[in-house]
Amino acid sequence: MPSIAENLESVRANISAAARRAGRDLSTIELIAVSKTYPADVLSEAVEAGQEVFGENRVQEALIKIPELPGRLRWHLIGHLQSNKVRKALPLFQLIHGVDSTDLARDVDRIAGETGHHPRILLEVNVSGEGSKHGFSPEILERNLELLLALPRVQVEGFMTMAPLAPDAESSRPYFAALRELRDRMSEKSGIPLRTLSMGMSGDYQVAVEEGATLVRVGSAIFGAR
Ligand SMILES: *Cc1c(COP(=O)(O)O)cnc(C)c1O
Repeated sequence: MPSIAENLESVRANISAAARRAGRDLSTIELIAVSKTYPADVLSEAVEAGQEVFGENRVQEALIKIPELPGRLRWHLIGHLQSNKVRKALPLFQLIHGVDSTDLARDVDRIAGETGHHPRILLEVNVSGEGSKHGFSPEILERNLELLLALPRVQVEGFMTMAPLAPDAESSRPYFAALRELRDRMSEKSGIPLRTLSMGMSGDYQVAVEEGATLVRVGSAIFGAR
């Protein structure tokens, strides 16, 4: 079985090849190693192989794991965030990917006002309208974007999506392309760059890079099956 270091090396090589195919600058793409369910000593192997950005999907798990690892690492919250976990999440994470409703964005903003944080967030979009129950529909996002961008504390940096589960990577392409197109339109309309596109997991990150992902969230291709 290949080591975590070897897996990381192949994932990075694949990202770089996909960027080249799409004529994209590799420096605009960041690999987030999704470390949910893996213990700190497994993550250490990835850290030794040069990985510094990790994605966790549960606040409770991150609270335990983060203090066990070097302070220089950066952590992203990639999963759904519950309102009652916001206060704990704010000091832990540099970027919150899964803000999936206007109410949650308002809660994050209000709590950040109380705790003195300026959270960077991504809005989760349910592009396909199927599968996940989380995420803004493109219509509701469009209707609420002005309000979301005007929140005083949170900084909306872009969008995140999950493609519906499919056996092949190509099936994800239309959803990734749709998220990029939505971003381009919303960015033009608002005059705000919305630079970050978080899309692509172990099964489809290369397609995501070809379609404009700036963050790919890769777990099992690095750490092995959960
Ligand atoms: C678990 C998870 C991933 C990574 O999934 P893999 O298939 O293991 O790469 C990416 N994004 C989110 C939101 C996840 O929950």
